[in-house]
Amino acid sequence: MIKGVRGAPDILPDEIGKWQRVEEVARSIFHTYGYTEIRTPIFEKTELFIRGIGQGTDIVEKEMYTFLDQSRESLTLRPEETAPVIRAYLEHNLSARASLVKVYYIGPMFRHERPQAGRFRQFHQIGAEAIGSDHPAVDAELLALLQQFFHELEIQEVELHLNSIGDPGCRPRFREHFVASMLAREPELCEDCRMRLRRNPLRILDCKNEGCRRVVEGAPKPIQFLCEPCTEHFKRLEELLHLLDVKYVINDRLVRGLDYYTRTTFEFVNKTLGAQNALVGGGRYDGLVEALGGPPTPGIGFAMGIERVVASLPKDLQAAAALQGVYVATLGREAWEKGFWIVQALRQKGVRATLDVEGRSLKGQLRQANKEKFRYCLILGEDELKKGQVTLKDMKEGGQKSIMLDEAVERLVERQGP
Ligand SMILES: [Zn+2]
Ligand SMILES: [Zn+2]
Repeated sequence: MIKGVRGAPDILPDEIGKWQRVEEVARSIFHTYGYTEIRTPIFEKTELFIRGIGQGTDIVEKEMYTFLDQSRESLTLRPEETAPVIRAYLEHNLSARASLVKVYYIGPMFRHERPQAGRFRQFHQIGAEAIGSDHPAVDAELLALLQQFFHELEIQEVELHLNSIGDPGCRPRFREHFVASMLAREPELCEDCRMRLRRNPLRILDCKNEGCRRVVEGAPKPIQFLCEPCTEHFKRLEELLHLLDVKYVINDRLVRGLDYYTRTTFEFVNKTLGAQNALVGGGRYDGLVEALGGPPTPGIGFAMGIERVVASLPKDLQAAAALQGVYVATLGREAWEKGFWIVQALRQKGVRATLDVEGRSLKGQLRQANKEKFRYCLILGEDELKKGQVTLKDMKEGGQKSIMLDEAVERLVERQGP
């Protein structure tokens, strides 16, 4: 027997309801905030990710699924979606249609990570990008959108961490102080970070090594060095968040080591999930479009891991939504044919309905209705049918009653809604 690939789990029918719920809520909220879906290919030219994510990052150096295709072109399965979105934005000149382009995506991403709890090699993200404005209102809206998303999914243990990491105007001064403090504690850094200290010291901020993280915690923070425009931007963002009643905490350790990341940086964390607790990571990248060959264009976005969001859903969410529809149980050939027709009529009205095609006994059919989580069971027996009656059994409340066959479909549609 051939098994699936390690770190690339199946999402089975029993779990899919939660995924669909998360995706539906996301789609509906994106719609109300003016974000439209974009779908880019699963693979891109490798060069796009090297430039978009950055040489020297863990993703580019260790985690990409890169391969040569039949014509010896180097392609990579997307490890993230921001670079492909920016590529599409530039390639199709989306800025000509709107000065502020707001898009979202839902789909699988691929990274060759060491399999461990909460990390997968094929994982799924919901993300959004707003390209074309550096106004703090765009940042505030995006955070309000996410707060609403978690609220609608009834995920309560979530907390917004917010920071500003400055821009090319103030980063040099921060870098100077940061490098000085790193040099002072160089022996505590990992081998990679000692190299980064010479080549691109800010990437030390992204190192996952615990020793390095401890050193970084004691280092100067970008927020202490913000220039006038960056301070103003952050102040305005805080005002707008208060206006929209978005709750957050400042987390000055929330930083990114790539030059094109600017100003607003944020995470939504689930306080109960343990080490892999960030549900969403995002921020401004006012330098990214230019880094990918476009004109200077500000932007902001986020990506959330669907696996972690699903793991954060309240336990009763799926059970509550589960009991739905009508199982039609029949006794005898004539009743079965009536039932077959009723099922079809219900389905055409948008009601989930089914009946047995495997010759189960009546008892077996009722057991099946229970197993498949149907709310109602409509029982068609031979004697009743002669009187034009059927039995409606409520699988949730218990109890049953006789109703007229002619009215059955109409009555069930009323109860179930479309
Ligand atoms: Zn390190
Ligand atoms: Zn600045």
